Amino acid sequence: MAVEMDLTGAIGAAVDRNRDATTHLLLDLVAAPSLTGREAPTALLMKRECERRGLATKSWSATAKEMAGYEMHVGEQARYRNRPNVAAVRKGAGGGRSLILNGHMDTVPVGDPALWSRDPSGEIAGGRIYGRGSCDMKGGLTTILAALDALDACGITLRGDVTVLATVGEEDGGLGALSSVLRGYRADAVVTTEPTNLRLIPAHVGSLVFRLTITGRNAHAAMRDAGVSAFEKFVPIFHDLQAFERERNETQHHPLFDQYPNKMPINVGVVHTGEWASTVPDRLVAEIRTGFLPGETMEQAQQAVIDRIMAQANQDPWLREHPPAIEWFGGQFESADTPVAEPICQAIIAAHETITGQRPDIAGMTGGADMRLFQRFGGMPSVMYGAGDAIEAHAPDESIAIDDLLTATKTVAQLLCDWCGVA
Ligand SMILES: [Zn+2]
Repeated sequence: MAVEMDLTGAIGAAVDRNRDATTHLLLDLVAAPSLTGREAPTALLMKRECERRGLATKSWSATAKEMAGYEMHVGEQARYRNRPNVAAVRKGAGGGRSLILNGHMDTVPVGDPALWSRDPSGEIAGGRIYGRGSCDMKGGLTTILAALDALDACGITLRGDVTVLATVGEEDGGLGALSSVLRGYRADAVVTTEPTNLRLIPAHVGSLVFRLTITGRNAHAAMRDAGVSAFEKFVPIFHDLQAFERERNETQHHPLFDQYPNKMPINVGVVHTGEWASTVPDRLVAEIRTGFLPGETMEQAQQAVIDRIMAQANQDPWLREHPPAIEWFGGQFESADTPVAEPICQAIIAAHETITGQRPDIAGMTGGADMRLFQRFGGMPSVMYGAGDAIEAHAPDESIAIDDLLTATKTVAQLLCDWCGVA
């Protein structure tokens, strides 16, 4: 026990001593461009940082060929070239459990710069680091490297191997994570350091996107009653989808999601209809996202949506004769669920408790993430834990508290010692 306390104390001191270097690493990462599809500058920086730490480092861009057959799981890609992923291995002495520490490099656009009061390409103020990607999730990539720095500073050799994965395309479906799995990267567990606000997230929902097309009949507005408005036919379906969302929330349960008032939102994100103010619109196309909890399969969730829309349409004489078309398109994301009893969950709970003195909150996440790909295609228990509040992600003035970043770093360093074993 005394030895363990010493190790924890040494890790904590090393992380605190490295505060400035860690802060600057995150600022460098935030300054490096990394829009989804154009991650190369950040990948080069990550590669250099991994090599500088003496890790066995490789980088590669996923190819269309290896993704053939998986488009449904990661979405269509606008491009493949020059989107390097980085994998770096800290070889263990042997005899311990291995761990993958994963983070995505890509970030969403800055949006309207006028909405930012801080520099989107990086700024420190009030103990926080601001900038696009500071929270989601260059903070997580920094956590991983800073945790390895703490082990190095303490002269710790682990028994198990640690693989750092820095991947592309998460915001768009998970191209880099899937490519890593397909190229054989495996470990006894995967921890993705997404911003979870220092909570353990062992599960996330699935999400499906579909296109709903409703057909009406054109007529001149002056003789509106001679036509059938596709828009008017859509309105009752829209209201019924809202009722469907409420019912699903009331009838479906999962212990990690019941805290959310709307755990599986249905969002009508796009509606196109009509061409001319004086013409009754004969066509409406809506693009809609629906979530589903772990426990319901993707096929079941799809069928539930189809049945609901068709039942509503059947109440309308026109729609009974001209049924709406439903087309699933883009990435259809599976849910993920790693039982809290799994050793990796228990190890994170213990490491967080060792560092902070408190048990971490445990929750599910109402959005999709790369975790599902490691679990489904790699067969690896997969969880998320990291600093930063996801509410900051994708928003103006995105930021992360430096103290939280260091807490996550200490927890991950402690986890590595506990999980992989110290030689
Ligand atoms: Zn993220």
